[in-house]
Amino acid sequence: MNQELAEGDLVQLIDNKGRRYQGELTAGKEFHFHSGIIGHDELIGLPEGSVVRSSRSQVFTVLRPSLSEFILKMPRGAQVIYPKDLGPILMLADIGPGMRVLESGVGSGALSMAMLRCGVEITGYEIREDFANRATANVERFLGAEALARYDVQLRDCYEGIDPADDARPFDRVVLDLPEPWRVVPHAAEAMRSGGIFCAYTPSIVQVTQLRDALDAHGFFASESLEVMNRGWHIEGKAVRPDHRMVAHTGFLTHARLGAG
Ligand code: SAH
Repeated sequence: MNQELAEGDLVQLIDNKGRRYQGELTAGKEFHFHSGIIGHDELIGLPEGSVVRSSRSQVFTVLRPSLSEFILKMPRGAQVIYPKDLGPILMLADIGPGMRVLESGVGSGALSMAMLRCGVEITGYEIREDFANRATANVERFLGAEALARYDVQLRDCYEGIDPADDARPFDRVVLDLPEPWRVVPHAAEAMRSGGIFCAYTPSIVQVTQLRDALDAHGFFASESLEVMNRGWHIEGKAVRPDHRMVAHTGFLTHARLGAG
């Protein structure tokens, strides 16, 4: 990726209060803020990280958004999994290039994007067409049309079963974010290769216990459940302390491996 910003790039403008605005650079278009206008033509060709001024002299820094920054601002249908959980899911499910992943539900595509960036092929099961379309559009916007070749979203109910992958290669990973993941466990045990990893995100601990019972009953082992806490710190001169507020809860992560049975 070039240092210079080009037409078609996604960019974010950050003002001196840390407020962020995102958009796609298109020749002839303008960003309109309360604090003035910036023409996209002024940004095209600038190095990322440049400081620009609006027509009313407000100062902005222009940068391409990172994946987490994009996820926090992108259009959503369903609630997304937040970056603090997405990073750990990539490790716990050991997501890597060339792996075949069954993901359900697809929702807004935040988890899909994090996994696609690691080079996997995803078959996604989603029951809502509007969410499937939203997720596909988000993936294309951030990762480009090339990523869609590795992203096959189907309108299907994952509780009813998982079809074997087209080329008869079983799934290496099953990664879930839906209300009753235990209903998918028997199907996952059929559709995955032995040694494969199952990982699910669930907001409630009652879901975790039900899921763990199903994993135990269907040949999974080495199961673990955990939550990730992320406490920011305030660092300013001698005032160095944890932030007063934090997001205390998002969801639990449960992962397990399939035995050879
Ligand atoms: N992980 C996603 C958010 C998923 S929200 C993200 O990061 O963006 C949960 C999704 O599961 C919703 O889109 C919902 O429509 C879908 N869903 C619920 N039950 C389902 C089922 N039985 N089969 C497939 N998708 C389902």
